[in-house]
Amino acid sequence: MTVITRFAPSPTGMLHIGGARTALFNYLFARRHSGRFLLRVEDTDKARSTEEASQAILEGLAWLGLNPDAPVVFQSQQADRHRACAYDMLERGTAFKCYVTPGELQARRAEGENHRAAAKVEEDPAKKAELLERANALLAPFRSPWRDGGTPPSADAPFTVRLRAPEDGDRMLTDLVQGEITIQANELDDLIMLRADGTPTYMLAVVIDDHDMGVTHIIRGDDHLRNAFRQIPIYEAMGWTVPEFAHVPLIHGPDGAKLSKRHGALSTLAYRDMGYLPEAMNAYLLRLGWSHGDQEIFTQTEAIEAFELDGIGKSPARLDFDKLGGVNAHFIQQSDDDRLFDDLLPYLQTDRTLTPEQVMRVQSALPEMKVRGDTLPNLADSFQFLLINRPIELNKKARKSLREEGLVRLTGLRDALIAADDWSVDCLSTVIHSYCTAQDLSMGQVGQPLRAALTGGLPAPDIAPVLAWLGRDEAIGRIDDQI
Ligand code: GLU
Repeated sequence: MTVITRFAPSPTGMLHIGGARTALFNYLFARRHSGRFLLRVEDTDKARSTEEASQAILEGLAWLGLNPDAPVVFQSQQADRHRACAYDMLERGTAFKCYVTPGELQARRAEGENHRAAAKVEEDPAKKAELLERANALLAPFRSPWRDGGTPPSADAPFTVRLRAPEDGDRMLTDLVQGEITIQANELDDLIMLRADGTPTYMLAVVIDDHDMGVTHIIRGDDHLRNAFRQIPIYEAMGWTVPEFAHVPLIHGPDGAKLSKRHGALSTLAYRDMGYLPEAMNAYLLRLGWSHGDQEIFTQTEAIEAFELDGIGKSPARLDFDKLGGVNAHFIQQSDDDRLFDDLLPYLQTDRTLTPEQVMRVQSALPEMKVRGDTLPNLADSFQFLLINRPIELNKKARKSLREEGLVRLTGLRDALIAADDWSVDCLSTVIHSYCTAQDLSMGQVGQPLRAALTGGLPAPDIAPVLAWLGRDEAIGRIDDQI
């Protein structure tokens, strides 16, 4: 059997990070088993679905590299097929035409609620019990009086097509994450598959599409667990094999409450814009609710090798932004320098276009500097000292380091630097050390004024590399500006 999974978002908003994780799990499970990962946009609800949302979801998935193995299926385009299946079930006798009108259903519910309200205030225990019983019968999942057929009220009376819900008894689902779950068949209604206007319902569409796409494993949020109990009878009614289900606990905010807007960014693309790398996002989302031994960070290849559904926990995972930062910092450090430079460039150029000299400085510093940020904008900030224009501004501390003695030492050091054989880190380091030794000065006494002149007090790493990255002309120029 070839494993086929799918991600089936509704295009009613952004790609939520919970959705992204669902997509990732489906993707990894398919890869793990050399299967196929498919994508279906569930746009049956025309009122709530938008083209914009579809595009945003596809963009988010593409950013994460979770590309499907076949063209995207748009659910609304399969409506004829959904309808045909409903008629097929009518023929098989597993579905029926129901002539109960929405008005009758409403009246039934209202009557049930009236009985329930009356039961509340009824003092006679026998009457109270009777009222409650009647209320419960009317408010219970609806079983239609038409489920066993009957003569239509008129030849052109409108009807819905309903599934004959399973007869009484236990309904058990062995979920690959949640384990064995049992409900009573009488908790299920005769669900509507075709509305009176002939449009298919979502519940029908999902099942037909999953079957037609050959889906073997449905991995999705556990907010759909109850839907599985409503969907399985449709497979049975069509005589189809029921796929495996794996319902994954939802993600919670850092405070343990259900994830909501007040927890901050929910959209996957917002993380791209905040400067997280897609591989970091995947690695972080993977560990959010899934574990494998005590390994914290997985590359895509490692994840594909290790991913199994039994590693998914049964309780909701909590978002942890510090951890995400740590994972991102890790992948920034692992990143290829050329690619990282390209990723970083928009953040370096927010208010300027880099000159060719500035580009060279950043590129030469990048291999060492990439440990200095946990997001792309943070990292870009740490390059400021290389990008400022001469004459550079000094902060208070830098100005202090360049008073009297500091300036004298800087002047001496300048002459030594000018005489350096070459402008490499090693050579510059030797020149500075020799100067300190010759003048009987500590590294701090020389390093501080030098650092002040070169960076103006901005954060920067070791001073010899800073000199090297700035290049001879710029470095000497910054020193001369102070002298
Ligand atoms: N379209 C549904 C949603 O976005 C998912 C349905 C499913 O995975 O079966 O919540």
